[in-house]
Amino acid sequence: MTVMVPSMTPALARPASIPSDLTTPGLQALDSALRQLHHAAEHLGLDDGLRTMLATPRRSLTVSVPLRRENGQMDVVQGFRVQHNISRGPAKGGIRFHPATDIHEVTALAMWMTWKCALVGIPYGGAKGGVAVDPTALTSRELERLTRRYVNEILPLIGPEKDIPAPDVGTDEQTMAWIMDTYSVNTGYSVPGVVTGKPMTLGGSLGRAGATSRGVQIAALAALGRSPEGVTVAVQGFGKVGALAAQYLSDAGCVVVAVSDASGAVHAPGGLDVAALRVHAEESGGVLGYPHADAMAHDDLLELDVDMLVPAALENVITAANAPRVRARLVVEGANGPTTPEADEILADAGTTVVPDILANAGGVIVSYLEWVQNMQAYSWSAGEVELKLRDLMEGAYGEVRSLAGERGLSLRQAAHVIGVDRVAEAHRVRGLYP
Ligand code: GLU
Repeated sequence: MTVMVPSMTPALARPASIPSDLTTPGLQALDSALRQLHHAAEHLGLDDGLRTMLATPRRSLTVSVPLRRENGQMDVVQGFRVQHNISRGPAKGGIRFHPATDIHEVTALAMWMTWKCALVGIPYGGAKGGVAVDPTALTSRELERLTRRYVNEILPLIGPEKDIPAPDVGTDEQTMAWIMDTYSVNTGYSVPGVVTGKPMTLGGSLGRAGATSRGVQIAALAALGRSPEGVTVAVQGFGKVGALAAQYLSDAGCVVVAVSDASGAVHAPGGLDVAALRVHAEESGGVLGYPHADAMAHDDLLELDVDMLVPAALENVITAANAPRVRARLVVEGANGPTTPEADEILADAGTTVVPDILANAGGVIVSYLEWVQNMQAYSWSAGEVELKLRDLMEGAYGEVRSLAGERGLSLRQAAHVIGVDRVAEAHRVRGLYP
């Protein structure tokens, strides 16, 4: 692993328990995030002090969360909340429940949130939370107890003006409802604006549930630059983001030929009926076994001869090992960090366009912002108003990234990072250093 920006704080140092030749997925994600920052900082000519500020989180909290299981046994799991940057506004970012999450992954994800919010012009810094647990192995009551206890542990950090969580991998509207309730009970009154991605009845926003996927569709169609009619698509990760992204792309005229999830991958060269497949996945717990398609190996999906590939699950799926075999000419990142820096170079050399995560999946946090604004004003917008604002912000950001990339000969990822990092650096410069 190469860390090219100064990063000597305890939060980023490799723990003694991890030998230096062993790379975990979290360290890989952090390495990617730091390398992307390094390139943007070089391009912008940032000084070392500012680079260190941007390479290190402002606050990192690790907590041990006791969990009472149904059989009375007590487990203790690790939880994290990292505020990477708060110079442009309150920290913002989801909470992930996943067995492999760790402080390094959460730090990388928080850093990506900082650039994402700056890039799309919403007044937030970046944060992320995580609990190292497999939510599918817990009962609903265990999940509720775990969520409430984790929120209690991170309570000093969060608040509608400080740090606003949202859903991420392994969490959903119900998790957000428990977070809102736990925070509100501690405060003594209802505070809907402490969390976004809530159920409608608690102050959620119309359009939030499908917002990331809608943003992926908007970014994909903008990058396509031609009629979507007949454009073939493979979607890796048929979950919260991928399933609806597949639906919206199919609604726009694309032909979704393959999708995958934890259960397996399915392929129908003539096109999948995405709506029917969503019903099948909902009812049977996964895409595997869908009758009108052939099963295929997970990894083969990434290498299919399609026009567009949408990785919409976790980090580090397109790597130096498989990137030379990626045949899609357009990759639209619904997930955070799905492409490693080495793979990015291979794709760029092959002339593949990659719409980077901090742009392609920004629809989620954009509508989170709109939800928070509605909460703070005790007001609500129609679905049409929300979609219009989402489209404006997504298309505006895409246009800025495209033109900077064209002007300076950068990839879309490099341009997106240059814009995001520059805006945060500028906020630091203008605010100055206290004391
Ligand atoms: N977890 C989502 C993301 O990675 C949404 C974050 C939010 O809405 O705050 O962008």
